[in-house]
Amino acid sequence: MKNFDANAGQGLLVEVLEFIKNSGVDFLNPSSIHKGGQKARAAIEEARENILELANARNFRLIFTSGATEANNLALFQALQAKSKVAASSIEHPSVLEYLKHNFVDNYLLFDACSIADNISKLENYNFISSMWANNETGYILDSHVLAKKVKANFPKTLFHCDAVQGLGKCDFDLDNFDFVSLSAHKIGGLSGVGALLIKDDNPFYPMSLGGPQEVHHRAGTENVLGIICFGIAAKTWLKKKASYRKKLQNQREIIEQYLKNELNDIHFWSIEGQGLSNTISVQIPGIRADDLVVAMDLRSYCISSGAACASGKPEPSHVLIALGASEEAARESIRISLAVELEDTEVLNFCETLKDCVNKLSK
Ligand code: PLP
Repeated sequence: MKNFDANAGQGLLVEVLEFIKNSGVDFLNPSSIHKGGQKARAAIEEARENILELANARNFRLIFTSGATEANNLALFQALQAKSKVAASSIEHPSVLEYLKHNFVDNYLLFDACSIADNISKLENYNFISSMWANNETGYILDSHVLAKKVKANFPKTLFHCDAVQGLGKCDFDLDNFDFVSLSAHKIGGLSGVGALLIKDDNPFYPMSLGGPQEVHHRAGTENVLGIICFGIAAKTWLKKKASYRKKLQNQREIIEQYLKNELNDIHFWSIEGQGLSNTISVQIPGIRADDLVVAMDLRSYCISSGAACASGKPEPSHVLIALGASEEAARESIRISLAVELEDTEVLNFCETLKDCVNKLSK
């Protein structure tokens, strides 16, 4: 399968795959004091350093979690424990929005990510804000760091959480004004089921899971050693290759955008050409149901998605596209193409031809 659905999962980088094939199985419990345990502990610490470096997050503590869903939940748990009033952008991932709906019922604010920085007074009565770095469906970069800077200047006690999952590696981060930041390993070519919450050094912290000293008492439970090591290897690989990855993704994205504009009629891009995540295109193809196109492409060995892959199987149209003003029909006709870093240019050209062929067949 050729992966044009990398925002759902990048797939393992070759460096990670090589490590898994060759590492053997001698990583024991990192809390044990014998050599097997200490080897695992050292490997975890090395991974932590590499991830902090990739995220440009030297003044944060990094707590490993089971993924960004848990990291987002854990960040919002801080607000719940502190009885904070929460505001979040309306295009957050469901692991933020569903958590708010469940735990804060009607008592939270959803704001428009595009206009909030010019309407900062709306946030005056809120003391915990969550706004993502980049949106998984459209690739929009929200400039949440600019918002956080304004928030801190106006309301210094307000805490700020950023879901930075889709930006890691693809963007240079400025995390200075954030208090909590969520990351996920499988979006950069590590294993799924591993993530991290970055916590600003001097902030208090309420753990959600209790019963062990792991992660400096912030998250009880034996660490996912292999997953964490692979997260670290993926981060180290991005540190080495990020300039070439980004350039390649940007070029390939432009090739696809140009092809779609030349070859398909009346399409509408939700992603903005030349802006946003270098690997992401969101496009409506009128008259074609996105779910049918996903299946047709799958039969030809290409992965794409309709709406967010995390929410696939869910019949409702994407809340992100609806928030951007899409009708339900337009949202159902929209696909997301998100390039993985290891695709060759010829594979991208073949993808374009195949997509056109599938669209032509479906429109008959
Ligand atoms: N946040 C964003 C922006 C995502 O795209 C995703 C997954 O798609 C998540 C959070 C959840 O990450 P995980 O799969 O590690 O739980």
